[in-house]
Amino acid sequence: MAAGGMVSSAKDNRVIVVGAGPVGLVLTLKLIQSGLPVTLLETLTEAEFPKQMHRAGSNHPVTLEMFAELGLYERLEARGLIAPTFQYWDRQHGKIIAEFDHAVIKDATPYPFVLQCERLKICEEALAMVAEHELCDLRLGSPLVSFEQGADGVDARVGTPDGGQETVRGRYLVSAEGARSVVRKSLGIEFEGFTYPDRTINISVSYDFSKHGYSHRNYISDPGEWMNLFHWKGPPDVWRVHFHTDPGADEASLLDRQNCQDMMQRFMPMDVPYDIVGTRLFTIHQRVAKSFRKGRAILAGDAAHVNSPIGGMGMNSGVHDAMNLGDKLIRIFRGEGTEDLLDLYERQRRTIAIEHTQAQTISNKKLLTEADPAVRQKNHDELRRTAEDPKRAREFMLRASMITSLQQAAAIG
Ligand SMILES: Cc1cc2nc3c(=O)[nH]c(=O)nc-3n(C[C@H](O)[C@H](O)[C@H](O)COP(=O)(O)OP(=O)(O)OC[C@H]3O[C@@H](n4cnc5c(N)ncnc54)[C@H](O)[C@@H]3O)c2cc1C
Repeated sequence: MAAGGMVSSAKDNRVIVVGAGPVGLVLTLKLIQSGLPVTLLETLTEAEFPKQMHRAGSNHPVTLEMFAELGLYERLEARGLIAPTFQYWDRQHGKIIAEFDHAVIKDATPYPFVLQCERLKICEEALAMVAEHELCDLRLGSPLVSFEQGADGVDARVGTPDGGQETVRGRYLVSAEGARSVVRKSLGIEFEGFTYPDRTINISVSYDFSKHGYSHRNYISDPGEWMNLFHWKGPPDVWRVHFHTDPGADEASLLDRQNCQDMMQRFMPMDVPYDIVGTRLFTIHQRVAKSFRKGRAILAGDAAHVNSPIGGMGMNSGVHDAMNLGDKLIRIFRGEGTEDLLDLYERQRRTIAIEHTQAQTISNKKLLTEADPAVRQKNHDELRRTAEDPKRAREFMLRASMITSLQQAAAIG
């Protein structure tokens, strides 16, 4: 491949986005709506796409503002649940420690709530939007296999739905492939951080916990078996419980139906068995790529950073990467800036990944799992005082809703 001779025609003057998850789709929408052509590659076929698990979905206010800018929010609101509050519970005593209300930040955002809308719903709606846009060359069933880059562009080898391969050319290539990014690995970029020894089991049940005082989003601390409890819109509605698991336990025994039923009954005993509609086991990582870019290949979303889901920040921060990067690519394509903007993207978003998303999610987990009774009590008192003091509650909510992280990113030059 002749370095520097790759982008040979106007047709190749495009961005190749790898992965039609929330991050790849948001980036694609941002670029095509600004007049930049995109080739969007996705491993899953059209038939496989709607069969993905639902996964994440607590969408914070600033993310909702971004969705609104792209025309995506109005498609999601009807498919989600508006959650103005969230609660911390003490499982040992079965009591609320503190409740936080987004109303305290209503002057800072037109969306003072979280929208509980799962990843798959976001992807389905965004995919429908990119599919009908003339500037998006959408290729489902088309995994990125490898790539080479030169001074002017990138050649991507892509699998085709019939089992063959072809080459796609572009000016830049963005990996929004998720945590197992082929691009990050082939660039030899280290994924620094650690993996928690205890996995998280998700158990979905059709039972309405709101009648016991739970809000749509609940963080439940316990030194033995901490939990999160979230409500998701159906039909049929489900409540998903994320439980801590014993690091030594094997997968089959954790996912065993009776074990899952026992976990639910330990949390809230019932006369009848819970109607368990789904179970899933996750390994949780806290990792950030050592660099977000090498030449014309750029990382965004889970390809660049992964974290514990406590606090619902992974997808949100990936969407923030996509909007930040999209803005910079648009300026480069329009001749309004140089590739220094891509270094700025890395400085801004990598700093936020480390100082905000990693720091916050690690401390969120510590708060739920703290075993020392004195420290637990101190933490709970602190949370209570924060919720009761309007000034502190507002600062807390600006951080929890990720507004602070965007302000911090904007201040990095
Ligand atoms: C249990 C759980 C709960 C969570 N809850 C939340 C939450 O409430 N809020 C939140 O913000 N985050 C949450 N997260 C994290 C969130 O799911 C991820 O951060 C988010 O999905 C990352 O989006 P992404 O687009 O970067 O990658 P992904 O969602 O992983 O999407 C990557 C896409 O790329 C495709 N792909 C992969 N490799 C290739 C290839 N070589 N070629 C072409 N296509 C490829 C994949 O098929 C996929 O469609 C949660 C995660 C878990 C596990």
